[in-house]
Amino acid sequence: MDYYSTPIAKLIEEFTKLPGIGRKTAQRLAFHVISIPKEEAEMLSEAIVDAKNSIKYCNICTNLTDKDVCNICSDTKRDEATICVVEDPRDVVAMERTKEFKGYYHVLHGVISPLEGIGPEEIRIKELLTRISSHDVNEVVLATNPNIEGEATAMYISKLLKPMGIKVSRIAYGIPVGGDLEYADEVTLSKALEGRKEL
Ligand SMILES: [Zn+2]
Repeated sequence: MDYYSTPIAKLIEEFTKLPGIGRKTAQRLAFHVISIPKEEAEMLSEAIVDAKNSIKYCNICTNLTDKDVCNICSDTKRDEATICVVEDPRDVVAMERTKEFKGYYHVLHGVISPLEGIGPEEIRIKELLTRISSHDVNEVVLATNPNIEGEATAMYISKLLKPMGIKVSRIAYGIPVGGDLEYADEVTLSKALEGRKEL
């Protein structure tokens, strides 16, 4: 790697560590950064450092926020009897975009995955239980991803919550909107049938 001067090589190296960034894209980004005005480059680096320094976990839902309690948990107009459990902060954004869900969230920051050595203790299940036992929650919607780990995590949480007298529901699976039955795999199709609704 003597083709580049050390600072450029270092920049490329750092970009390569980002998810979804291959060597070529890393090079393009590095040369882009070199070409932009100094102020812009400083804004970029400041934004990274600021985000890293100010973002923490919400005291209630464990979503990422720069405050003690996030904007959603601070919103008193929501339905406090319903909590939607998701894997990742990005899933909160996805759910919010639908404008369908009016309750609060709980972010697990992962799923149970024995293969990767992630047990229930490693994700934010304990916080969920503490929260539910001290608040009037009627329903918990489990919105973990419909894959093996997501299913196992949903089942695990469901077994813990049901004895507490809480209604536990799971988001329905189905054919994507605009999708075609012919091309849906068997699991998706059978899950869609299972989750059918009366019209
Ligand atoms: Zn929150």
